[in-house]
Amino acid sequence: DVRMQKLTKRRVMTIANQKGGVGKTTTTVNLAAALALQGLSVLVVDLDPQGNASTALGVDHRAETPSTYELLLGEIKIRDAIQRSPHSNLMYCVPATIDLAGAEIELVSMVAREGRLKTALNDSVLDELQIDFVMIDCPPSLGLLTVNALVAAEEVLIPIQCEYYALEGVGQLLRNIALVQAHLNPALHVSTVLLTMYDGRTKLADQVADEVRTHFGDAVLKAVIPRSVKVSEAPGYGMTVLDYDPGSRGAMSYLDAGRELVVRSPGDPVGSGR
Ligand code: ADP
Ligand code: MG
Repeated sequence: DVRMQKLTKRRVMTIANQKGGVGKTTTTVNLAAALALQGLSVLVVDLDPQGNASTALGVDHRAETPSTYELLLGEIKIRDAIQRSPHSNLMYCVPATIDLAGAEIELVSMVAREGRLKTALNDSVLDELQIDFVMIDCPPSLGLLTVNALVAAEEVLIPIQCEYYALEGVGQLLRNIALVQAHLNPALHVSTVLLTMYDGRTKLADQVADEVRTHFGDAVLKAVIPRSVKVSEAPGYGMTVLDYDPGSRGAMSYLDAGRELVVRSPGDPVGSGR
């Protein structure tokens, strides 16, 4: 029975790093697919106006599609925006349209502007769909969209690219997380760090990996995502790498990461604020 694995408590995880191109979206959709393959229901919330997560999950995100934009503005309920991914019965997505690009500014003058996603997620439709995991894909900034994601979640997953300057900006992200934790969401913590785009042929990749493990300790998943052409090709076909090439190293590593995520406790506040 695929539903054996149901979690006892829903986990809400924000995938954040204000640096662009570190693998946030790739990690969000591929981990979602890995969790769905384990029998868990996953809702991906696309908070990046580029809508790349929506594309990879194969859901409609043309202009006018009910999306995270209308949701944050309070114009619709989340059940009106949730689409099921054609890739899996257990994967759902609230898509992002290009309208979301304006939300960062429109939200500024609104009441309870930081808590709007949290409020929207507090809806019985998540129980009806038996959602186990909510994964929120953030834009490459620390503005109000990312703050909404940090207020709505208990867990943060930080993807870190095994490249030069990998840790640049991570300090600022951790300070922001600490601020949100202190003022808006006491439950927030960095539960997970994932090393991405690892190239085992370079010394640099190992140096970065060591540095990240020293800094974040047990929060770092043992699974490391290799740099792989298959991973980068998959979104071009509206697919995750698990669908595009299930036997590839990229797919296997995301499956490993997904398994680790499920067996680990969500509650260990390791690595944050150091
Ligand atoms: P972000 O969401 O942080 O901006 P993306 O997930 O969009 O980053 O990844 C940035 C680019 O790198 C994309 O073109 C993506 O396809 C590619 N990419 C991500 N992970 C890998 C990987 N493991 N191997 C090769 N390319 C990758
Ligand atoms: Mg992205």
